[in-house]
Amino acid sequence: MGDLTRSSCDFVSLATQGARGLHPYQPGKPSDELERELGISNIVKLASNENPLGPSPIALEEIRNELSQLTRYPDGNGFKLKEALASRLKVQSSQLTLGNGSNDILDLIARAYAELGREVVFSQYAFAVYPIATQAVNATAVVTPALNWGHDLSAMLSAITDRTSLIFIANPNNPTGTVLSKAEVVEFLSQVPESVIVVLDEAYIEYSTDPDFPNGVSLLSDFPNLIVTRTFSKAWGLASLRVGYAISNEEIADVLNRVRHPFNVNSLALAAALGSLRDEDYLKKSITTNEHGMKQLTDAFDRLDYEYIPSKGNFVCFDTKGSGMEVYEAMLQQGVIVRPVANYGMPNHLRVSIGLPEENARFIEVLESLSHG
Ligand SMILES: *Cc1c(COP(=O)(O)O)cnc(C)c1O
Repeated sequence: MGDLTRSSCDFVSLATQGARGLHPYQPGKPSDELERELGISNIVKLASNENPLGPSPIALEEIRNELSQLTRYPDGNGFKLKEALASRLKVQSSQLTLGNGSNDILDLIARAYAELGREVVFSQYAFAVYPIATQAVNATAVVTPALNWGHDLSAMLSAITDRTSLIFIANPNNPTGTVLSKAEVVEFLSQVPESVIVVLDEAYIEYSTDPDFPNGVSLLSDFPNLIVTRTFSKAWGLASLRVGYAISNEEIADVLNRVRHPFNVNSLALAAALGSLRDEDYLKKSITTNEHGMKQLTDAFDRLDYEYIPSKGNFVCFDTKGSGMEVYEAMLQQGVIVRPVANYGMPNHLRVSIGLPEENARFIEVLESLSHG
């Protein structure tokens, strides 16, 4: 079994050009793994922008109610969840596409609108899934240089050619946490040819309470080539269940639903997402926990003299003043998991997710011990 010595094939070279050139997404180190390695149990994981509160109790209750139906396929159209989202967002259900996390949605968009010979534009330091989704369909990635760690929209406009079919923008961006204002986004969208699809990835939008923050959904009526993507993984606290969605015009939603796998969102995920939407207090608590935690961390960076990139997400990148990887390893030894961003071309930075106050304090304590060390 699995004995490649008897095969005359090189199965890697048989793969498509896109797949051959891919580097798998590098997830944050799981707590269990570090626990096994170090033989300690009080691990603090601030590596994957997860919600530190645990899921909404209403989500848990909805999951329990759904358990007896596990022999059945889930509702492949996600009827109830779409209804709830549509009424919340003031759009039609037919404008929604549900995904197995919004990663799935990004992939569906690439599969529907990109292929060999087409170009996909995104920024340096943008979310790592964009190059993967692009290459997996053999399209050409066009990466524009960042401006102050964020998107340089005029560079992105200049990068558009006859072959451009798709543009990915994360607002706020991960891993840098940078944001674009409503005026910038509108100005950009009004200059992009309508035949180029623009994806506004709003995975962290719930954390941005500033009224000037652009809400992609409100721009859909002016820009039919816009797709907004959102997720239940971050502020709604359901990362493990994998639920995300796209809001777009009906025609685009129809296309995305054609390439979508029939039962891509499972029944527990559908039930939990629906339950979470009823728990407005949970969302509020997520936002305030994040605000307080962000202040706790950035105050510490200021006090300890570490530069950081101002962030509107539930994470922040700081400059370690040396090798990010070395600081990462040293923190691991003390049971604190953060995220290296060298794979994004940021070898001196680390990204830390906002945790509970005591988790943030552990991170700060460890960082402080290292800076005196
Ligand atoms: C976390 C994240 C996502 C969402 O991931 P899910 O697949 O929904 O868990 C999408 N875009 C960005 C920029 C993210 O950081």
